[in-house]
Amino acid sequence: MRNFFSDLSYKFSVFMQGRYGRDELSRTITIAAIVCLVLSIFRPLHFFVYIALAILIWSAYRSFSKNRTARERELEAYRKIKDTIVNKFKLIKGMWRDRNTHIYVKCPNCRTYVRISKPPKGKRIRITCPKCRNTIEKNT
Ligand SMILES: [Zn+2]
Repeated sequence: MRNFFSDLSYKFSVFMQGRYGRDELSRTITIAAIVCLVLSIFRPLHFFVYIALAILIWSAYRSFSKNRTARERELEAYRKIKDTIVNKFKLIKGMWRDRNTHIYVKCPNCRTYVRISKPPKGKRIRITCPKCRNTIEKNT
């Protein structure tokens, strides 16, 4: 029996040679599949089991794929989306933390947020964007 499992392990490692394997995106989509399976427990959401199955097939396809370039491109796109979401949450967290001392002004030209000390109410402020040097005027 021990021989059988060591043979199986060896055969699997031979099978996986040259294949992409698992990465950050694989782990995330596996978690998404588990969430879908949990949701499918509830009667009106039974169809989530098919979504979970599709996600698991996609995850397995990615792991067993030999096209590393395409999988790395997918991972790069995933990281770009993830970074955008994480940075948005960090900005919201910072805005909430500094709500009594600072304001955040969005540059209409480059969409960068500029953090400045909270000016007195009813005052007109002029800010120069540190990224694109655009001048922003705002009433407080
Ligand atoms: Zn700007």
